[in-house]
Amino acid sequence: MKIIVFAENQEGQFKKSSLEAVSYAAQIAAAHNGSVIAVSIGHVSNDKFAELGKYGADQIFNYSQEVFNTFFGETYSKALAHATKNAGAELVIISNTYSGKTIAPRTAAQLGAGIVSGVISYPNTDNGFNVRRTVFSGKAFADVAINTSIKVLAITPNSFSLIENNKTASIENMDAGISSDTLASKSIEVARASGKVVLTEAELVVSGGRGMKGPENWHLIESLADILGAATACSKPVSDIHWRPHSEHVGQTGITIKPNLYIAIGISGAIQHLAGVSASKVIVAINKDPEAPFFKAADYGIVGDAFEVLPKIIEAAKSFKSQQA
Ligand SMILES: Cc1cc2nc3c(=O)[nH]c(=O)nc-3n(C[C@H](O)[C@H](O)[C@H](O)COP(=O)(O)OP(=O)(O)OC[C@H]3O[C@@H](n4cnc5c(N)ncnc54)[C@H](O)[C@@H]3O)c2cc1C
Repeated sequence: MKIIVFAENQEGQFKKSSLEAVSYAAQIAAAHNGSVIAVSIGHVSNDKFAELGKYGADQIFNYSQEVFNTFFGETYSKALAHATKNAGAELVIISNTYSGKTIAPRTAAQLGAGIVSGVISYPNTDNGFNVRRTVFSGKAFADVAINTSIKVLAITPNSFSLIENNKTASIENMDAGISSDTLASKSIEVARASGKVVLTEAELVVSGGRGMKGPENWHLIESLADILGAATACSKPVSDIHWRPHSEHVGQTGITIKPNLYIAIGISGAIQHLAGVSASKVIVAINKDPEAPFFKAADYGIVGDAFEVLPKIIEAAKSFKSQQA
């Protein structure tokens, strides 16, 4: 079985979610006597490709034409479909990141492939090809069978471990023959937030809710996040009233995250908020109301006023850091 994996990069660095996808594909390949072709799209320097081999890629298809300089669903999915057809691959693995969510259905449509997104299991091939995915905002599971000859799986980031397989992957420069003149739409400019930990990739997240009272108090959230090297997030009402940008809104209608540590400060723990964060490995809730629903979902809880508790945590984290230095 030949397996295509989308190796997404950000500013030339392969994302952790891509390396998870390569590891995931390598496990399937090992079980089915298959091989893994990682597809890199956009500019990545050659010395970075070894990382894909480290996690189990046998081969790398490199699409580095100018048309791929900016991420774009139309062009990237065309390249992935081109790679799949070229390799004669039966399985396409894409991490279900923002970009992955954009290109997985497009790629499947171009290949006439069955697709399952939000995948949290390895395929079971005892009787057909079945995978498990989450449904209802992570509240339930569904086992789904794919019956097409080519299959696309969009796997949930942070659900599969990085597994080293140490291969020396060969690199093939590819050209899907896409001209920017023929595209249905065109990205004109991308403005990136710089110097911040990307929320969807973050291992640690510090998040604030309406209990923070106003944007003028967010320096507390940001200070703690800076010391920990964490990303910042917020509840929906906080972004609705423009205390924070919508890109930080987590939950059912926002981003779903799965960090190793989620610290929720002044957030009640409504079911719609939990839908986006409850898969975090460890949850700490800080709330002045001992009856706040978040305490039921949290691993650790601090009952107290955020404006008293946070400065103490920030001081403790600073002094811990300085002892480590
Ligand atoms: C269809 C739908 C989709 C939704 N999607 C989302 C979503 O994606 N994400 C999301 O977050 N919400 C979502 N919501 C809204 C959700 O139901 C809640 O209203 C929202 O999560 C509450 O935000 P909050 O906890 O910040 O505010 P509040 O409910 O106002 O809670 C504030 C909390 O802060 C505590 N607090 C107050 N002062 C302090 C203090 N000084 N120190 C410590 N704690 C303090 C309070 O005890 C309270 O628990 C959705 C709702 C609907 C209907």
